[in-house]
This record gives sequence, C-alpha cells and structure tokens, in this order.
Amino acid sequence: MSNQEIPEYGEEFRKRAIAEIYKVLGGAEISTVEFEGPEIAVYVKNPKFILENEEKIRELAKILRKRVVVRTDPRVRKPREETIEYIMKLVPEDVIVNPEDIQFDEVLGEVRVLADKPGKLLGKGAALRYQVLAGTGWRLEVYRKPPMASKILESIMRHLTVASAERKKALMEIGDRIYRDLVIGTKYVRIIGLGGFSEVGRAAILIDTGESRVLLDAGMSPSTMGQEGLPSFFAPEFRVEDLDAVIISHSHIDHVAALPLLFKYGYRGPVFVTPPTRDIMLLMLTDFIELSRREGRGSLYTMKEVALAMTRVVPVNYNVVVDVAPDVKLTFVNAGHTLGSSMVHIHVGQGLFNILYTSDMKYYRIKTDRGTRLLPPANDEFHRVEALILEGTYGAKEPQPREKAESDLLSLIEKIASTKGKLLIPVMAVGRGQDILYLVNTALARKAIPEVPIYVDGMIYEVTALYSEYPELLAKPVRDLMLYQGDNPFLGPTTIYVNDESKRQEAIESQGPAIILATSGMMTGGPVIEYFKNMAEDPENILAFVTYQAPGTLARRLAEGEREVEVYEDGRQKKLKVNMEIVSIEGFTGHSTRSELLQFLRYLKPKPRNVILNHGEPSALLSLAQSIKESWQKLLFETPPEIIIPENLESLRLYPRNTKMRLALSY
Ligand SMILES: [Zn+2]
Ligand SMILES: [Zn+2]
Repeated sequence: MSNQEIPEYGEEFRKRAIAEIYKVLGGAEISTVEFEGPEIAVYVKNPKFILENEEKIRELAKILRKRVVVRTDPRVRKPREETIEYIMKLVPEDVIVNPEDIQFDEVLGEVRVLADKPGKLLGKGAALRYQVLAGTGWRLEVYRKPPMASKILESIMRHLTVASAERKKALMEIGDRIYRDLVIGTKYVRIIGLGGFSEVGRAAILIDTGESRVLLDAGMSPSTMGQEGLPSFFAPEFRVEDLDAVIISHSHIDHVAALPLLFKYGYRGPVFVTPPTRDIMLLMLTDFIELSRREGRGSLYTMKEVALAMTRVVPVNYNVVVDVAPDVKLTFVNAGHTLGSSMVHIHVGQGLFNILYTSDMKYYRIKTDRGTRLLPPANDEFHRVEALILEGTYGAKEPQPREKAESDLLSLIEKIASTKGKLLIPVMAVGRGQDILYLVNTALARKAIPEVPIYVDGMIYEVTALYSEYPELLAKPVRDLMLYQGDNPFLGPTTIYVNDESKRQEAIESQGPAIILATSGMMTGGPVIEYFKNMAEDPENILAFVTYQAPGTLARRLAEGEREVEVYEDGRQKKLKVNMEIVSIEGFTGHSTRSELLQFLRYLKPKPRNVILNHGEPSALLSLAQSIKESWQKLLFETPPEIIIPENLESLRLYPRNTKMRLALSY
C-alpha cells in the first residue's frame, strides 16, 4: 500500500491505520488498537516484541504520519508490589533508589523510577529497560531525582491523580473527535481576538477554519482578577460546545487563569500543553484559587474544574507535530520565556495555511548576548509561516541591556550590605523569580557580592523545584552546571525558603541586610504586600521592580511616583506613607525587547505575509508597527508584510499568497 492512499483523518483513516498496524506489528500479539487523543495506542501481549522491533514502530509512525505508541496489555503486567521488588533487586550498589520513588502509570503502562544516577541504573544500551519489560510487562522510565522537590505539586498530583479509567475515557473521546470525518471541510482561516489584543493580559485567540475551532490560551488580566478580567467568552463566535481544542502557550496567569472556567461552562475537550507547563499551571491555578479565597475576592472556579482540566491535558514535547482536529495540526517550539513556554505553530488544512503564534517569547542572539541566561532563546526557523501573531510588550522602547540591569541589581545588594537595609523584589513565581535567584547565587559563588541572606516567599520555591526537574530545557551553561557538576544554582549558601508564618516574621524582623523575593510581581496580592507594609516607612529599605507592571496595579503606581497608598490592615483600609527608595530596573525582561523583536523578524525563516501584533499596550504596538514598516527591507522581507493591530472582538480573515491555495479557501 502506498502512503498517499491513507487519508489523514476520518473513519477511512482509522480502518486503514488499524489494518497497517496489524500487518507491521502482527508478531506482538495485538489485543487492541485505540485512538487516545492524538496518539494511536497499540496494546500488545508480547512485551519483548516492543523492544526488539523499535525500528518497525518508527516506520509505522512514518507511514501513518501519526504518533504511535505501543503499550503492554494490562493483563500481562505484574502487580505493583511484585514489580517494585523485581526492580529493587536489579539496582546496582552505587545507585540510590527509594521504593517510594517508584511510581506507576496505569494508562501508559509505565513504571517511573527516580534515581540519583539514571545512566548508571539503566546500564549499557538501556539493558535494564529491556529486562524490566520482559520480566514484569511494565515499560521502565528512569528520571534523575531532582535536587529539590515540589511538595505541593506532589500532594495536588496525588489528590488529582485522576482515576486512570476516567483519563483513558477522556482521551478516547478526544481521539474520536480528532479523527472524525470532515463535516464541512476547511473553508477559511479566521482569527478572532477574544483577549490580549491592544492590551497586555487575558490572552485568548480563537482560530476558526469552518471545520474546526481551536482556542490559543485562556488567560486573565493580572490587574483585575474578577469577572472583568476575563476574555470575551460571550462573543457570538465562541461556543465551548463547538471548540475542538484548547492550546496553552505557557503557565502565566494572563495565559492560563481562565482555563478552568471553560470546564465550568461545559468544555470537555483536550488541553494541549508542554509537560513543564502542565506542572506549573497546576501550581498556578491552585495558588490562584487559594489567593482569591484568602483575599476575600471569591473564586470564579474551584479545584473541581482544575481537576477536570487535568484529566483532559495532553502533554506534547517541543518540535513534535500532533493532530488537534481533522484539519489542524499543532507544533510547540521553544519560546525562551519561562520553563516549558512555547510558541504555537498551527498548520491548517493539508498544506493550506500556517500560523505562528509567538505568545510571550524571548529572542536573543547567543553569539552577541552577554547576559546571564537561564533559558535558550526562541526558535527562529520553521517549515512554513504565512501569518505571524507577534507579541509587542516592549515594542515601544528599548530597555537597557541585560548586562547593565544585572550590575544595577548587584550594586543595590552592595548598598544594603553597607546600610543594613532590606531589598524587596516583587517577582512572578514563574520566570523572574528563578532568573534573580540564578543571578544572585552565581554572583555569590564568584564572590562578586557580599554574603546577604535571600528570603524567598510565595510559590517561587515550588516553581524553582520544577526548573530543577527539567535541566535539559535550560540554557547550556546552567544545564552543564546542574547535570555534570551537580550544582544547584537556585539553592545558594544564603537562600532561605519561607514556608511558614514564623519564617516570614523572621525575614521581616531580622536586622538587615536581607534580600526578599516575593510574589506577586505586580503587587496585586500575595506575600509581597505583607513585606511592603512592614518595610515601606523605612528610608533605608529599597523596593526594586524587575518586571513589567500593568497599568493600574500597585507596582505600576509606585513605579510612577505615588508615595501615599492605601493598604488593607486587619480588614480595614489604611493609608501608608512610602519612604523606602523605589527603583525600576529595566532589562531583566523575559519578553523580547524592541530590538530583539526586530532581530527575530530579521532572522525568522520563512518570512510571513501577515504580521499581527498583540500582547502590548497600543502605543507599544503602534511604534513597533511603524518600525517594521520603515525597515522591512533591512529585516530581509522580500515584500512589505501586511501589519495588523486588531482590537479585541475583531476578526481577521487570512489568505495564502499562493493563488491555488487561495482558491481553496475562497468560501
Ligand atoms: Zn508570560
Ligand atoms: Zn503574557
């Protein structure tokens, strides 16, 4: 059978795919073939066949152009206790494995083992994997035991470890929808802005092809966390029952906080994310509910909806193409913004149209950049891109270079070391928190600054633990440090993680100097407020801003010069005089600066025909558009791109340049 004959979706595809699978993997004693989300899962009774025929499985994936995973039939898997015993007997003497670090995934038929030396445990050519599969029917995955552990994540994961059966049922429903027959076919490509257009916050973009509808991000405005901070889910084009897929670019509140609400409205489809985004977003959503409750705002949703969303999460690694609807394929690529953050590449209709949604991204040239970087820069090479949705947070002005920002911050630390004041740095739990910890701890290690205690409060610790679980996703120097030198740059000799009220009191009452990193970054809530209230009146103290502040937030108002603010104390409003020094250090941003955005366009391959600007205040987007218009030749475009700055609720219809494809989309 030639490859062209197998269609990419629909009943016919399924029938042909199953026939092909039986032909190629017959020797594995197949018991069933299932379409679990975008993956085709083949359950077999002869586990040895899987390892002996990995080449055949790869071949099959190529023929079908889908992800094919082969799993053992649950009936041939040994009981858990017996499997743990079997594995423990095989652990070499110089490798440490705790029996409680052996976990099972019934859905995937995997046994996961955490070890201090994963390579040593696996043995030559991953011999152990073969042995465990043959001996127990479980597929062995070995992970490095992270130097820090996220206790909160472990406990919510346990709480949510959604019954395997329910998750499996959800995946099969999702598979049914992805591989359905086309109902009307791809008729057009429309982009509808539901949030995050001409503003920063509540990111949500609907992509509509006539056949299917995909939502990119579901965020809330960080400055208004109530109903008014939501995207326009009331728009007539948006109906949860018509939605094929939700794709989340990264775990920041302005991209993910509204996700559980979709489940409250009745959405039951897939949520595509990278594995670190899955973990971090679970922390963020749990924290979001907790904070709303504690601050008396009342929450828009509960853990019930978060749990529902987790049942339908489909984790996808970078650079893997997956089907999300019969006419839409998704690829996540590194965005360099936070751990697991991604740019979203959407392919519509077999070869008709390609959209790249950068979401929040950090682009820089490794060769010329001299900053301390935790993450590698965003990708700039693609197969095809016709329309680009580009963020423009820093589209208007160029902050100072990263290097200068770093030295500014370090000199503030020297200053408090001599005055014995305290330095309060509000940060988001994800991204800047880890950036600053890395910077300060590496400076301490090379004795570039005096030893000062660093108190870290809020979700930062938990998220940092996750950064240490995915060292392979960090920038090369950091990765090498962690993997080969066993160093943990997030945990320095003076780092103190604040995990209870008494530690917080210690940080507040200690005679300085001290550095305090606390959430939230825009001072809209969280422990940073407690510190601020206690530190504001002392002129020896310093408040340093190192992140973007949305208009209207306490952080923005202070940065713009307000020195008398209202805060809540024991449920009552009171006036607070701010005498502490306030410094804004620009240049640390996890977003591309103006020049980096232009550089990204210059190096981006291939060049898009449409450039749609979002995620920025109007003045920033206008200024960026102007620069692109003036310098498209320098940016190596062959013809001037069409630059569009939509408002929320506006919809755009997009056409390919190619006339034949254009005809195909002229509904
Ligand atoms: Zn972000
Ligand atoms: Zn954002």
